[in-house]
Amino acid sequence: MTQIISIPRTLANRLLTLAQLTPDTEVCGLISNNTEDKYQVYPVNNIANNAHSIFEMDPQQQINAFKLIREKQQTLFAIYHSHPDSDATPSAKDLHDAAYKDTLNIIISLSTEGVLDMRAYFYQQDKIEAVDLIIE
Ligand SMILES: [Zn+2]
Repeated sequence: MTQIISIPRTLANRLLTLAQLTPDTEVCGLISNNTEDKYQVYPVNNIANNAHSIFEMDPQQQINAFKLIREKQQTLFAIYHSHPDSDATPSAKDLHDAAYKDTLNIIISLSTEGVLDMRAYFYQQDKIEAVDLIIE
């Protein structure tokens, strides 16, 4: 059965805006939420050499973001990244590199001009489980 996860439109718009700010580079970062269903986005620099088609989060920034999430008593909701010119499906590297198997992964694609293409997945071992992402 496909899991259904809904996110507020404000969050979806924020992620799309971040992706559009650097349309030639994959953006990445963390999203937290709290008990009041407030979401916060923590952008992290992509330090990959080929940042156009892969992402690698700056380790120190990632640690800092996790620290802030803990300090604010939030929980990690998802890891997001963008695909400048491929659709919003995980690459083989995305699956291979996934460190947090129980974490939701959101991919924002800019390849379809004018259309918001945002999809979400869980990576289980070696298989990808698509989530039904609802933008409210
Ligand atoms: Zn990717």
